Amino acid sequence: MKIVLASHNQKKIKELREILAGYIPDVEILSLDDVGLTEEIEESGTTFAENAFIKAHAAATSGYIGVGDDSGLEVYALDRAPGIYSARYSGEHGDDEANNRLLLHNLANKQDRSGAFVCCIACVFPEDLTRGYYFEGRTEGEIINEYRGDGGFGYDPLFYYPPMDKTYAEMTAEQKNSISHRGKAMKLLVDFLVQHTNKD
Ligand code: IMP
Repeated sequence: MKIVLASHNQKKIKELREILAGYIPDVEILSLDDVGLTEEIEESGTTFAENAFIKAHAAATSGYIGVGDDSGLEVYALDRAPGIYSARYSGEHGDDEANNRLLLHNLANKQDRSGAFVCCIACVFPEDLTRGYYFEGRTEGEIINEYRGDGGFGYDPLFYYPPMDKTYAEMTAEQKNSISHRGKAMKLLVDFLVQHTNKD
């Protein structure tokens, strides 16, 4: 089984490869570059699912199974912002420090600091490029007022997960994967692909 993961992020590709290898021994995870799809994919959707589909669809045009994901932070008191704009909340794409500062600024007068990380994964088969299969993971937590922990990336130091009494940034990679939005969505994808393989 060959899967093209619509990401240039080598960490994501490695993570999916490691998880899937435990369940589907002959799985091969390829990147967009591996199959010659070098053009930037425009994330023009208005929801996580739409963006995940756009990426999975592009990957599946390679002729292999396409997988795409989109994730972000929804803060309820901010009408679910930053949402699909999480990576570029402060304007510049991927400026974690500025994004965190803006988040704290916008929450300064708010009582309700609850929110959730969301990850949507879409899977598209090359036999029917119009159909997406979706897997969503959601983890509820709170946005705290000071930075805690130095692991992870993005909003991790501000995202407090009460059941573990830790922020995402204070967890080990294993702890985070076991409860994270991405870990949950990934698990659903893996279950689906295992079932799909067993059908053949
Ligand atoms: P992506 O869709 O996985 O690339 O995530 C988009 C943006 O959402 C990232 O740039 C981060 O700002 C935020 N984000 C997604 N997942 C996480 C996470 O696990 N921790 C912290 N920030 C995250």
